[in-house]
Parts: sequence; C-alpha cells; structure tokens
Amino acid sequence: MTARFSARALREGLTTSFVGRRLEYRAALGSTQDLARELAQAGAAEGTVVLAGRQTAGRGRLERSWVSPGGGIYLTAVLRPPAEHLKALVIIAGLAVARGIERVAGLETSLKWPNDVLVAGRKIAGILSESELVGEGVSYALVGIGVNVNADMVAYPETAPLATSVMTELGREVSREALAAGILNEFEALYLAAQAGEPIHEEWRARLGMLGKQVQVRFGEQLEEGLAEDVDSDGSLILRRADGSHVTIAAGDVTLRS
Ligand code: ATP
Repeated sequence: MTARFSARALREGLTTSFVGRRLEYRAALGSTQDLARELAQAGAAEGTVVLAGRQTAGRGRLERSWVSPGGGIYLTAVLRPPAEHLKALVIIAGLAVARGIERVAGLETSLKWPNDVLVAGRKIAGILSESELVGEGVSYALVGIGVNVNADMVAYPETAPLATSVMTELGREVSREALAAGILNEFEALYLAAQAGEPIHEEWRARLGMLGKQVQVRFGEQLEEGLAEDVDSDGSLILRRADGSHVTIAAGDVTLRS
C-alpha cells in the first residue's frame, strides 16, 4: 500500500526558484488541469503547481481519459511564457519527465512523439498542454503531467497492456515526492534554457524513437504516411512522403509501419 503523499517532502526536494514554490496539493481532484485553470484565471503566479493524489476525471489529448489511480503523480503547472515559446512546453515537459525518471528511478526512457514517455516500449507518463491566449499573447498555459509510479497498471484494462509504471519496471516502489520534485526541478531548468535560446529540442529529438523510420500519422481526419525525417524546434514532425514532398504535422497519432 502506497504511503500518503507528503507535500512537505516534495517541497524539501525542490531546488527551483519559482516552479512548485506555490503548491496546491489535494488528495483527490477531478482533474488538476481544472483547478489550475481556476487559479490561473484568478491570477496565480507563474510556476504555481496543482498536484493530486488521484484524479477521478483525468484527461489526455482530444478528450481522451487519463487513468489516475492512487500511487501516481498528477500535476499541472501554471506558466506564462512568451507566445513564441508556447509550443516548446510539450518538449520541455517530455524531457523533464524523462530526465526525472532516469535520475530518480534509474530507468531508461524513450519519448514517443508528440507527448508520451515510454519505458521498455510501454507508456509510463503522458503530457497535456493547454493554453489561453489574449490577442497575440499568452494569458496562461497549463502543463499537465501524469506519471504511473506506484500503481500496477495491469489492473486497468483501458490501458493494459500498453502502459507500465515505475514500480512495475523497478520491482519496488519509489518516492513520489522525490520523483515529482525531480521532474519539477528539470522542468524549470529546461523552461529557462528554452527562453534563453538554448536548442533543447536537440536532446528531445535524440530521445524520440521513431526518427528515420516509416510511419503512419493520423491527425484530425487526415492520414499521412512516409519517413519520419525530423522534428523542428516547435516539436512538429517533418514527414517525407513517398513522392519526396514534405508535410509538417504539429501533433497526431503515430504508428510504425512494418
Ligand atoms: P497515444 O499516443 O498513447 O495513443 P495520446 O497521446 O493520443 O495517446 P494522451 O493524451 O497521451 O493521448 O493520453 C490518453 C491515452 O493514453 C488514452 O486514450 C489511453 O489510451 C492512454 N492512457 C490513459 N491513461 C493512461 C495511463 N495512466 N498510463 C498509460 N496510458 C494511459
């Protein structure tokens, strides 16, 4: 049985200057995105983090649901980046989760474009970035991160056998507080690096499993096939079709073609 989450222990693990410095912890929430949105609309400071012990209505992209049992990490960070850095939030979050899992749990991770973190080919974490714009600017952005930590995902038929957890891969529980703090520490460092113009997408690109492979990508009603040639600094996929033409895709569902 997983121990109760300690917001104090998380705070003690933070080395950030603003991310997580205001921390709203709830044992259970519908979705951390919803409370974070309320706080953002009420003027919450950049870096405010909402964290829940479990979610009853966790969401993924496109209104898909995110299975959120006790034992996981469910958090949303409120950010106010310049508009030109908005798209990089998925890159920053994906890298922060990958680095955090590697450093705290010692597991090797890979990234699945555009927003999944995998261990041993199975999904261990997901990322959801939502934003509210005013004119040309960003009013606020909400970066949601869900990580399967001390839960056995086999118990959830909606996700098994595509999901795994840190506990399943390691064979023991890990401290959710240490892992959440590790992810937030990496997040802030990457967020600041991106705004300082550092090419953080290069590490992200190096961790993506599909580049150089033949893929099929579904997005909206469209289906494209071709070589996953590269990603750009916004995180969009550059696909080379069989006829040699290129198409740039912001997000979609990708499958490898055998
Ligand atoms: P995928 O690329 O895996 O098809 P997605 O990127 O389109 O998913 P996400 O927003 O990352 O969608 O997450 C929603 C999907 O992830 C769900 O439809 C479900 O298949 C899967 N899922 C839901 N909860 C979990 C979980 N706790 N762990 C792993 N996978 C999950």
